[in-house]
Amino acid sequence: MPLFNQRHHQALVQRQQQGLYRQLKCVEENPQWLNFASNDYLGLAQDPEIIAAWQLGLDKYGAGSGASPLVTGFQPPHADLEQQLTEWLGYQRALLFNSGFSANQAVLFTLLQAQDHLFQDKLNHASLIEAGMLSPAKMKRFAHNDVTALARQFATMNTDVDTASLVVTEGVFSMDGDCAPLALLRQITEQHQSWLMVDDAHGCGVLGEAGQGSCHLAGIKADILVVTFGKAFGIQGAAVLCSQETAEYLIQFARHYIYSTAMPPAQAVALRQACSLIQTQPWRREKLQALSGHLDHYLDNSIDLMPTITPIKPIIIGDSTQTMAIATQLQQRGIKVGAIRPPTVPPHSARLRITLTANHNETDIRQLAVAINEVVDVG
Ligand SMILES: *Cc1c(COP(=O)(O)O)cnc(C)c1O
Repeated sequence: MPLFNQRHHQALVQRQQQGLYRQLKCVEENPQWLNFASNDYLGLAQDPEIIAAWQLGLDKYGAGSGASPLVTGFQPPHADLEQQLTEWLGYQRALLFNSGFSANQAVLFTLLQAQDHLFQDKLNHASLIEAGMLSPAKMKRFAHNDVTALARQFATMNTDVDTASLVVTEGVFSMDGDCAPLALLRQITEQHQSWLMVDDAHGCGVLGEAGQGSCHLAGIKADILVVTFGKAFGIQGAAVLCSQETAEYLIQFARHYIYSTAMPPAQAVALRQACSLIQTQPWRREKLQALSGHLDHYLDNSIDLMPTITPIKPIIIGDSTQTMAIATQLQQRGIKVGAIRPPTVPPHSARLRITLTANHNETDIRQLAVAINEVVDVG
């Protein structure tokens, strides 16, 4: 038997025994269901105006872009979207990618050289940690949101003239819903002539006055800002915001950009609509704050809900099997929440990941809270 067969079988059996087996389920839209597991924070994934924009885009530009951006894939809707993003977020340039995963990989692989130092928050997204491990640079992970730990790592860095350093953090952490100490990170990176890269997948659209995200809220500007369109934008794709020169550098050297088909132009049209709605409909962000208050109100005090200013509301359970059992019980009550286990989160910190969207109402939140009060055993 080829070794692959044996290896796969063993790994699957082991996963099962650890209570960590992941199952791909085909989710049918069920209107009876209360969904508290999506990242569609602003409720835009089913928005009629965005759907209409996408349809108009299809009529005008067809189904696909036909090529990578440097060939013929970069078309007027892509250029318009890039410009809209730069004006909104305050950067010289924006480059579009097909996913946040590929944007993160493109940036880290392209910027870093062997003599460089890369510092990442321990809880950064898998796409960032993996890119860091595969990059030629020396990567160090600092304790979550711990600027003192980062300072210690800076102190041990060699300071050769050809050593560049990059600090990477998420703006809002996807599994905890907490925010990075961006003002302090900006300060320390400036002290060390280092760059700061912020992946704001969960902050963009949700935080800041016009939804500009974590950096805007913290009053700082990152050297590289990554925003993704699969969360608050309700669609799919990503952009890297940076200076004119960095954009040109990425266009020359980032293989994920050069050798990948550009997103369909119709999708860029839809994203433009989403970007406009995010800026002109602050009620979606205000609603999230109100819903967050309702959740605090209706949950029993004994339930250990992590306090966050974001729509990500984790309840740490600890044990993976118990977390799955609770999620199943909630599902039997018509409520879908995320059950997140290692290795996505640190060992013994399996959790329910509840996410709110602007489409929920107070009754939905009460129903969720009543069910959680019933099924989460805090004894
Ligand atoms: C979802 C996510 C990504 C990946 O984005 P996709 O567009 O889904 O590939 C990257 N970083 C963070 C922090 C994310 O939450």
